[in-house]
Amino acid sequence: RRNHLRQLIDKPAITADGVEIELLANLELPEDVAAAHAYGATGIGLYRTEFLYMNRADLPDEEEHLATYSEIIRGLAGVPITIRTLDLGTDKRIGAIDGGEPGVCNPALGLRAIRLCLKEPTLFRPQLRAILRASALGPVRLMLPMITSLSEVDTICALIAEIKEELRSERLAFDPDLPIGGMIEVPAAALTAAQLARRLDFLSIGTNDLVQYTLAIDRVDDAVGYLYDPAHPAVLRLIRESINAGQRHQRPVSMCGEMAGDPRFTRLLLGMGLRVLSMQPGSLLEIKEIVRNSNVATLAGEVEHFFAQMDGSDPNGLIEALNA
Ligand code: PEP
Ligand code: MG
Repeated sequence: RRNHLRQLIDKPAITADGVEIELLANLELPEDVAAAHAYGATGIGLYRTEFLYMNRADLPDEEEHLATYSEIIRGLAGVPITIRTLDLGTDKRIGAIDGGEPGVCNPALGLRAIRLCLKEPTLFRPQLRAILRASALGPVRLMLPMITSLSEVDTICALIAEIKEELRSERLAFDPDLPIGGMIEVPAAALTAAQLARRLDFLSIGTNDLVQYTLAIDRVDDAVGYLYDPAHPAVLRLIRESINAGQRHQRPVSMCGEMAGDPRFTRLLLGMGLRVLSMQPGSLLEIKEIVRNSNVATLAGEVEHFFAQMDGSDPNGLIEALNA
């Protein structure tokens, strides 16, 4: 079976009815670039930059960010990469900054990710400057985690415009058209995806957090792990709304949470209209095999019918039927 999957490495991810699907890799460490290549990823859909901050007492400066990104971009040799800005807090804590005041009861609802970055420009600016400078070295996109409100996007876009001016006056190179995208990880973002799509170049659905926030279950609390269900109708509706909003505004929508690499959901996601999936490199071939054996036109009809009937049927039944 392993050999069988290995034969797919150089084969394109095209469905049986000829629709091209982008299968991308998630990256946590620079070393993971090798695995992304080895499993035939055509891009990096999510580079989690938190590791730069881990296991140290100080904060990385702009040059250290840039050196790390340069090395990765060089290793990718033209393969595009989406760099996510710092997503600290709750499940990703470090020594230098803990992303929450002591005594905060609900850190997942607190000062994390983009909220923390906007509060602490000394944390955010060096990274934004470095990502912009890295965009001169290869195909780079910038992605913002945990977006909840339009005002956050507006503030960040203004900050990026300001930094571009700075870089111009310092004669430092960058891609003036660097695409800026936002993650859909909070129900509020999914329900306002149309407005976000008008302000951003792309959207990416982060199901790990979207499931947590939609179902009100802590993603790292085993006691409520039994409730963690990406196939919950509420989650599926939010995913569908995000995809449709992107399509209405001609903005690409991808998925980079664990659901994207779970073979149980591939056909459902294709049927909902997703065309870009980013996952752990080790899942790529198994997902590619499903993609190549799927007919998205048929799946779209089946999923459409399912949503129309959802109040009366069990999502798991539909998923089984799609996969049968
Ligand atoms: C997600 O929330 O789905 C996601 C991809 O981000 P992370 O797992 O890093 O929170
Ligand atoms: Mg997340």
